[in-house]
Amino acid sequence: LSGRLTGILDRLRRRGALSEADVAEALREVRVALLEADVALPVVRSFIEDVRAKAVGETVLRSVTPGQQVVKIVHDALVAMLGPPAPGIDLNAPAPVVILMLGLQGSGKTTSAGKIALRLRTKDRKRVLLASLDTQRPAAMEQLATLADRAGVMSLPIVPGQKPVEIARRALGEARQGGFDVLVLDTAGRLAIDEALMAEVAEVAAVARPHEKLLVVDAMTGQDAVTVARAFHEKVGVTGIVMTRMDGDARGGAALSMRAVTGAPIRLIGVGEKLDALEDFHPERVAGRILGMGDVVSLVEKAAATIEAEEAEKLAAKLQKGTFDLEDYRKQLAQITKMGSLQGLLGMLPGVAKVKAQLAEAKLDDRILKRQLAIIDSMTKAERRKPEIIKASRKRRIAAGAGVKVEDVNRLLKQFDDMTTMMKRMQKLGQKGLLRHGLFGL
Ligand code: GDP
Ligand code: MG
Repeated sequence: LSGRLTGILDRLRRRGALSEADVAEALREVRVALLEADVALPVVRSFIEDVRAKAVGETVLRSVTPGQQVVKIVHDALVAMLGPPAPGIDLNAPAPVVILMLGLQGSGKTTSAGKIALRLRTKDRKRVLLASLDTQRPAAMEQLATLADRAGVMSLPIVPGQKPVEIARRALGEARQGGFDVLVLDTAGRLAIDEALMAEVAEVAAVARPHEKLLVVDAMTGQDAVTVARAFHEKVGVTGIVMTRMDGDARGGAALSMRAVTGAPIRLIGVGEKLDALEDFHPERVAGRILGMGDVVSLVEKAAATIEAEEAEKLAAKLQKGTFDLEDYRKQLAQITKMGSLQGLLGMLPGVAKVKAQLAEAKLDDRILKRQLAIIDSMTKAERRKPEIIKASRKRRIAAGAGVKVEDVNRLLKQFDDMTTMMKRMQKLGQKGLLRHGLFGL
């Protein structure tokens, strides 16, 4: 999906204005890309229509390219469909609040039950009881008991030979008597949806009357996610979704389908095997991941608000001619101070991990930015135009003038050098739209 979209958007970037035909063409390809990413067809359809309705008639911001504008519209529609952000577990019910874990075998139900228990105990200060209704897999109950120990919560004592519904009743009684705030019921999964499993889970739900019915789905699931979500939603009702294995390289397209099919919010994200590997759901992050473009969108928003297009055009021309010098760099630095936190800004740029690490090492903050400005200010015009003439004696003079050490001057020159190298590389990669707005001018 990512490669494909980047291709389309690059093409759009090179055009002057966003016509209706441009939008239509882009959306045709977005549609194919989403289908390739295993998003269900009806979901893709409604998504495309949503985007089309928003894109047509939208004016292109002066300092943003048409392609970037399309990224933003596509992204916003994705975020809207994936939202709401960070809903967390709903505990708004009389104690004991019952949470029922649903899903196929191996989706991560038991692990997620342990993670949720740990989170509720530590963050929400709740007394949690874990109970396994998994009578299918021999070691399933022990697995949950071990997780409960590690999470520092109680688990229901194991009584061999009981049926899931009987265990659910016993767990409820125990939770009430023991004054627990939350009861998490883990269930058995099958390799695929079958009637027996659904009947069993529906029976348990009828007895335990869970406040939350969490569907646990592996992010790697493709079209299957839709079938699973629909089956559980029809038979039991789903109140929330937990996406696991988001630490893998799945793009998370399944999230879009499941959300659309059930209407239930994506409550939590599993990002590893450990008990603390559980995160809040951030629709922008997942949308960015599905598009594979980092947070280009907010970058565009900030850029649009602060950067003068003509100025940027000039810089882009200089870059192309290889005449970008320290004077231009100074302008860029001044713009960055206007745009707010440097670290925050860097965090949004895709593919700048290396530079980011360097900057983190140099502890580049706003104070350092101001120091850099001072260094450039104590250079002569000739030095700013041709940094390569700055040798030892000039460095000493500049350092003294700016009230800094020679190392600081060296560091600035090195950074300028790294930056121009990176910009040239980005230019080759076709990131012209971003370059034109001087955003790599760090
Ligand atoms: P269940 O059959 O649905 O109860 O699935 P389990 O909770 O037993 O999980 C199956 C496997 O997936 C185990 O090896 C877990 O450690 C692993 N697992 C669960 N959640 C995650 C996750 O978010 N990331 C990763 N990498 N592994 C996970
Ligand atoms: Mg299990």
